[in-house]
Amino acid sequence: MSTFQAPKGTYDLTPPRSATFLAVREAISAPLRDSGYGYIETPGFENVELFARGVGESTDIVTKEMYTLTTKGGDQLALRPEGTASVLRAALEANLHKAGNLPVKLWYSGSYYRYERPQAGRYRHFSQVGAEAIGTEDPALDAELIILADQAYRSLGLRQFRILLNSLGDKECRPVYREALQTFLRDLDLDEETRRRIEINPLRVLDDKRADVQKQLTDVPKLRDYLCDACKAYHEEVRALITAAGVAFEDDEKLVRGLDYYTRTTFEFVHDGLGSQSAVGGGGRYDGLSEMIGGPELPSVGWALGVDRTVLALEAEGVELDLPATTSVYAVPLGEEARRVLFGVVTELRRAGVAADFAFGGRGLKGAMKSANRSGARYTLVAGERDLAEGVVQLKDMESGEQTAVPLTEAAAELAKRLG
Ligand code: ATP
Ligand code: MG
Repeated sequence: MSTFQAPKGTYDLTPPRSATFLAVREAISAPLRDSGYGYIETPGFENVELFARGVGESTDIVTKEMYTLTTKGGDQLALRPEGTASVLRAALEANLHKAGNLPVKLWYSGSYYRYERPQAGRYRHFSQVGAEAIGTEDPALDAELIILADQAYRSLGLRQFRILLNSLGDKECRPVYREALQTFLRDLDLDEETRRRIEINPLRVLDDKRADVQKQLTDVPKLRDYLCDACKAYHEEVRALITAAGVAFEDDEKLVRGLDYYTRTTFEFVHDGLGSQSAVGGGGRYDGLSEMIGGPELPSVGWALGVDRTVLALEAEGVELDLPATTSVYAVPLGEEARRVLFGVVTELRRAGVAADFAFGGRGLKGAMKSANRSGARYTLVAGERDLAEGVVQLKDMESGEQTAVPLTEAAAELAKRLG
């Protein structure tokens, strides 16, 4: 070990576990790429004001969890705590919404930073794959995203996840509900901070995890009873479309989520094997966000799935991903001359598209064969002085154990053929 360790709340991804992370990112993004979503990448930091306005001044993310910094030039920046505000900012800046092709469908994958209390499944640096569909109000779009996330989790082999669904109303009906909620909450026995929250962001109080708070919320006014007809119809259509797709969900009228920008459809994916950090992903519709960051009216919907927690969920369910071995051929030279010759064969194989590796460092046969085994290679190529004198290499099938001498000049072609 060196003098240094990964900073508090972070961890390194190293082989072999890192391969699972790559496979999860791939599995989550594949259904998006197949459904018209284009890849977008934005900087790891943004102007702090973007998140203050776009995520919301009253959210935990902005008040407590952001890594902010002042540059030497005096700019106020923040490491990105989430993806939606950045992606929308970038889409507006590139005028993607003006290309006359709405919705603008984008997917992204990257690192996010939140100054949180580190726990299992809760880190200060974590990884998300996300999707945003910008500029269209259509219940089929909300349904599409929920169905694609479900498809992604299922393709990984996850089964113990549930989809929680709610509607948060829109700018017509939400304010009416907000006031009724505030009136109800003001009469409860709550601490100072929660009382302040009632005034700034009362919906968040519904999300309070404490039992003594939840007990007082038994008769809290339900948003469902306040939804306007347009919101009700929209929500029913989303529910009907995902039901028709065979995707099971649970109505959860207390689901509000931590970000200020959500309107109408909100959803969360929870996994029952993860203890208290049970949310593996979440999202919803954010019709007002574009205007909040100075753009035109662009009703949009999106989600972000946490890669770290998805990997933990796989481990909790005992799902082993079927990851193909990365090396197909492993070359073991015995002696200087064989080293030169086999290194040439390995290069030739790689150029022919065959994944090949080599026993570097002039190790003995035993150690090199151990590495060959560990590499997962289907074939090894072994050559010593005698083989070279006869113009052959020994080709060993690691599955059957069968070994055959193959003319050196035909080795690469023979392997390419056998590997299909
Ligand atoms: P939580 O309620 O657990 O704090 P959140 O509502 O803050 O989650 P989102 O902002 O919706 O989470 O982010 C989407 C996903 O990103 C989460 O469902 C989770 O899988 C992941 N995520 C969020 N924060 C963290 C974190 N600190 N460490 C690891 N993963 C995280
Ligand atoms: Mg959080």
